[in-house]
Amino acid sequence: MTRRAFVSMAALAATRPAAPARLVVPIHRILDGRAKNPLDRLQHFWPSLWDEAARDFGQGGISFDISDGPGEVRHSPADNPIFVGLQRGAINLVVTDVLPMYWDGGRALAGVSTIHDGYHICMIALRYAHRNQVAFFSVNTCLHEILHVLLQDIFLKPPKWYQSGGREVRVDYYATRLWLFHDGDEVRKSGEVYLHRLGGRLGARLGGRLGAACEPRDGTVLSIAD
Ligand SMILES: [Zn+2]
Repeated sequence: MTRRAFVSMAALAATRPAAPARLVVPIHRILDGRAKNPLDRLQHFWPSLWDEAARDFGQGGISFDISDGPGEVRHSPADNPIFVGLQRGAINLVVTDVLPMYWDGGRALAGVSTIHDGYHICMIALRYAHRNQVAFFSVNTCLHEILHVLLQDIFLKPPKWYQSGGREVRVDYYATRLWLFHDGDEVRKSGEVYLHRLGGRLGARLGGRLGAACEPRDGTVLSIAD
C-alpha cells in the first residue's frame, strides 16, 4: 500500500460516523414465587422468549445489565397486586402465570408495563406470552413490554381506548424494526431519555398514578397468543 493510499484510507475512517454507543438498560428479573407455571413452560421461557427478545434488542445496540432475585406477587382482597422483591433504579421484569385481574380485566393479556408505587414493572404472563409471530402485529412479549418502557409510555396517563391502540401499533412497529431490520436508533434515543428519568426517580414521585396497560388490538392477537 502506498503512503498516499494509506493516508486517504485513514482520512476516510476519520470522517466515517462512529458506531452509536450501546445503550445498557438495568433489568431486575423476578420469577413470581407464587405463580403456578408448569415446569416445562418455565423452562421454555428463558432460552426461547427471553433470549429472542435480548437478541433483538442486541441487534439494535441495546443490551441489559441483568440481576436476578427472589420475589412474588401477592393479591389484596380486591385483587390489587402486592409485589415483593422489586428494585428501584431498574426495570423489574416480573414473570408470572397470569396477570392480576386488577390489570388484566378478563382480557387474557400476555403482559403489562407500568409504574406501580414508584417501581418500573414489566409483567409477563407466561400462559399467554409468545415469541415473534407476525411482523408489525404480534411480536415477542418481552420485546413488546420493555419497549413500552424505553419508549416512555409508562409515564403517560392511562390512555383512552383509541390512544392505547396507537401506542400498541407504535411499539410493534419499533419491535419489528429491531427484529427484522436490526434498527434500534429511535429506541436508543428514547431509551437514553428514559434512563435519565429512571435515575431521576421521576417515577417514584408519580408512582401509582400512571401506567400503560397493553390493550389487545383485536381478538386475533389473543387467539395467536394462546
Ligand atoms: Zn402493549
